[in-house]
This record gives sequence, C-alpha cells and structure tokens, in this order.
Amino acid sequence: MIGVISKQDERKVVEEFFQLFKTPWEYYEPGRSYDVLLLTDDAMPDGDADLIILYGSELYELDEWTGCESAKLEANGSVQWGDAQIPIYGERRAFPGAKHPVLFGMNSCQPVGYECRRGKQRFIRLGYDLFQEIKYLLTAGQPQENALSPTLDYHIASLRDWIVSSGIPLIEIPPVPAGYRFTACLTHDVDFIGIRKHFLDHSVWGFLYRATAGTLIDVFRRRASRKKLMENVKAALSLPLVYIGACKDPWDQFERCLEIERDAHSTFFFIPYKQRPGQGFDRGTATRRATKYDVGDVRTTIQMLLGRGCEIGVHGIDAWHSVDHGRKERQRILDITAQDKTGIRMHWLCQNENTLQVLDQAGYSYDSTLGYNETVGYKAGTALPYKPFDTATLLEIPLHIQDTALFGRGRLNSSDSVADDLCQRITDHVYRYGGVLTVLWHQRSMGPERLWGGYYDKLVNRIHSQQAWFATAGEAAEWFRMRRAAKYERGPSGAVTIHSTQVFHDGNSLPGLNVRRFRPQQHCLAHATPTPVQLQYDDYELQAGQAYRLAQA
Ligand SMILES: [Zn+2]
Repeated sequence: MIGVISKQDERKVVEEFFQLFKTPWEYYEPGRSYDVLLLTDDAMPDGDADLIILYGSELYELDEWTGCESAKLEANGSVQWGDAQIPIYGERRAFPGAKHPVLFGMNSCQPVGYECRRGKQRFIRLGYDLFQEIKYLLTAGQPQENALSPTLDYHIASLRDWIVSSGIPLIEIPPVPAGYRFTACLTHDVDFIGIRKHFLDHSVWGFLYRATAGTLIDVFRRRASRKKLMENVKAALSLPLVYIGACKDPWDQFERCLEIERDAHSTFFFIPYKQRPGQGFDRGTATRRATKYDVGDVRTTIQMLLGRGCEIGVHGIDAWHSVDHGRKERQRILDITAQDKTGIRMHWLCQNENTLQVLDQAGYSYDSTLGYNETVGYKAGTALPYKPFDTATLLEIPLHIQDTALFGRGRLNSSDSVADDLCQRITDHVYRYGGVLTVLWHQRSMGPERLWGGYYDKLVNRIHSQQAWFATAGEAAEWFRMRRAAKYERGPSGAVTIHSTQVFHDGNSLPGLNVRRFRPQQHCLAHATPTPVQLQYDDYELQAGQAYRLAQA
C-alpha cells in the first residue's frame, strides 16, 4: 500500500494518476503502516515504510537530513531514465553531490534524482513534482517536438520500477485486457463519401493535380512507384465515367477498410450535417471545412457497417465549443443509428481548453480528438484513456497515429519505411506497457490518389501479430470504465481485497481484468549509470463480481 502526502491543490491529479496506475494507495494517515510513502509536500511522516519517495523542485525538511548539495535548474528540460528521455515541464532541482543517482538531467548531466539509506529505509529524492507534471500533460499537452515520448507512462513506469526494485511486492490492475497485450482502436473519420458529390470543386482539382503531376514529381523524387502513377492517372482519366455512374467511385472505400481489418471491429466517425463549416472560420477556410455529404445520405452504408460489428460515432463540427451544438450533433447521429449513446472526434481535431468539459456536458461517452494533425505520438503523454478534470463521465481516448500526419505533404511526408519505424515505436510501447493504441485512417485514403491502403494493411497486420484486442472506441471506453470501477480495500491485517464488477457493452461481454503481482527484486544502491530493472510478474484473471484477497506482504 502506498501512502500519499500531496499538496492540497493536487488532489484531483493524485486521484486521476492512481486511476491510471491502478495500484493500492490512500492518502497518508498517521499511525497506519505503508510499504511506500510518496510525498510531494514538505512533511516528515512517522512510520517504518521501506521506501520514501520525495518529488519536488523546492527544498524540503528531508533535504536537510540528507545534507545533499542541490541547485535549481531552469524549467523545461528532460531527464534520462535508462534509455528513456522523460521531458519535465515544470522546474527541476539538480543534486550535483549525489553519490547514488537514479536520474540525470539531459545536457547538464547532473543527477536530478538520487537515493540514499535512512536506517533500513530507502529514500529516493527526485527534483521535480510528479503531480504537477501529470496535470500539465492532461491539460496543456506536450509540444510536437516531444510527441514521441510517452511521458506520463514513463512517470508510472519509473515509480513502479523504484518500488519493485526496493524489494516491495506490488499489485496492479494493468491496462491490459485478459488474454491480450493491449487494446487497438482502428478509427476512420469520414470527411468524404465519394468524389461524385464534388463534381468540379477545389477537392476535385486538388485530386486531379495530385493524381497526375503530383505523383509524377514523387516518382522523380523516388517517393512513389510507377505503379502508383499508373493507377492514379487511370483514376483521373476515368473520372467522367465515375460521374455518369459507369465506374466505381475511387473515394468510396468502406469495403476496402473492412477487407483490410477482417474481423477487427473499427469505428467510423460521420459528419452530422452537410455544407456546414462550423462557426469561427474565415471564408476561405470555411469552404474547405464544410463537407458535401449529409449523414442522411448514407443510411445504407451505416446499417451495413453496424451489421458488420463496427461502431458509428460523431465527427463533430461545432460540438467542440458549444454544449447545445454538441447535443444536436449527437442526436443527429443517434437518430440514424437508433442507438442511445455514442462518442465523438472533432473534424480537423478542433479543440480549446474547455472542449472536453463541453463534450461531457453534451452527453458523449468518450472523445478521441486529443492528438496531433502534424505528427504522430502522445499529446497527453500516454496511451491510457483518462477522465479529463471536471468531467462527469467522459473518457478521453487519445489519438496516436493519423494517416495524413504520416504521409501528408506539409506534414511528416514519410516514406513507407520511415512511417513504419515511427509506428513500430508506438506499437512496441503499448505491447510493453499496455493501454490503447488509437489509429486514424481516413476511409478515402485507401483509394486514389493517396493509395495508402497498402501501408494500412501492413500496420493492421503488425498490430494483429502483437496480440491486440481490437475494440471499437466505445468498447475500449467501457473496458477502461470497468478497470476504473475496480476498488482496493485494505483489511486490518494489511491484506488487500479487490472488488470488481463485470460490465457489458451492447450485450457483448468484454475481456476480463487481470491482477498483476510483481515479484520484488533485491535492491542494491544505484551506480553511476542507473538503468531500469527488468520486472517480473504473474497475471491472474479477476472473475466477475468476486472479491480477491491478496496479501501484500
Ligand atoms: Zn475530419
């Protein structure tokens, strides 16, 4: 059991942090015994905890006891933890005199964390405030240059590592559905349903240019194959046949999505109204943001997708800034699907600092807008769905990989092999630490002129081979709600009981929860180059509605 002493104004953050790192904890109460004390406030707690971890850039009373020399560093730098760089967004304190460092500052190479002994206790001092970092990640989000760092997940992993390597047994409900390694959400924003609707507007001229001259230039630059050029030119030439209905529409790729995904159930976000750019865009931008189709035009497609086990969500226009618009857009989609709940992703990923609270009030079950348009990675520093502050029920399922960010001109503009390296870094992370990998592949992207279906097929195969549970966004949200609802209760003997209830989603059972017991490791004081330990654990599946008695000691 971890006892926590935080600053008063950090309580919301502490509680969300321990929903993500689902391990037994409580606020410190004098007279109770703890394996670990985690402090971000100046306090000298009593007790015989085996491990005391103190986070913060200020000087504390405990610093006088260790007598270690220290100095403030400028805010906004990274620390090196083993092979991983962890960006720190608040102030940092370095400890140049530390004998046993556990973390180093990047560039300065000074220890930003160290450990020492206090009788039988292990004391770890870290020169940044954990909960201020978590708050920053879940509100402001990471700048693009740190996109590839799963910073929040590293904060959890490093804390876990220090606990287990102190010889303390740890239990956790990992963010991993029983029988799998992680969850994968394949999603599609439906901005276009066919080129026919566009006749000769700017989208079609753009298509004709990119399919012909654009692809030819790419062939000269060795960024596209001759085969792709042939296919695109053929598509451009057959446009008149498409318009008279004699040829298949190249931007209708719903069947191709399902073919690539096989039995993985994906989520399609549809725009509720046609010809609506949304409020607050200037005229030029507005014509590009408004879409040509109305959701009422695609009832048959929606029924076909629902029948194949896919989910339909809202691709929002104005919901990001208005509860009233949010409710109407939600109702418009629910009227077509005849369902009673749904989630959302905003068109163009529009958001402001209140968007998640607005979507919560508008009644959405989840949002999946939080990601980058320009790059791939972790905007909130995590692959874990979380409950944004000051919301009642909404879960945020962060977006990680977007096709147009990977391959778009003016974005990363990657070759297939560079895209593959980036995606592999992300899939390897969720394979190791769990969570939800969220992929956005626009349905139109499978067809000419983009022809990104080949790489999508490869990505989906990689995810298949890494033992993912393919879930719709709604199923993933329900699974993480089930994990959040599980409760630890400590009995008088120190044994911990876990209470959990199985939840169901549209009548289908979800995979179960696991309990993970980490095997405590022998500890020796850290040497000059600290590296994370290889943790060993055993998983047990929790059964529905039962209580588990697990002795912590
Ligand atoms: Zn969109």
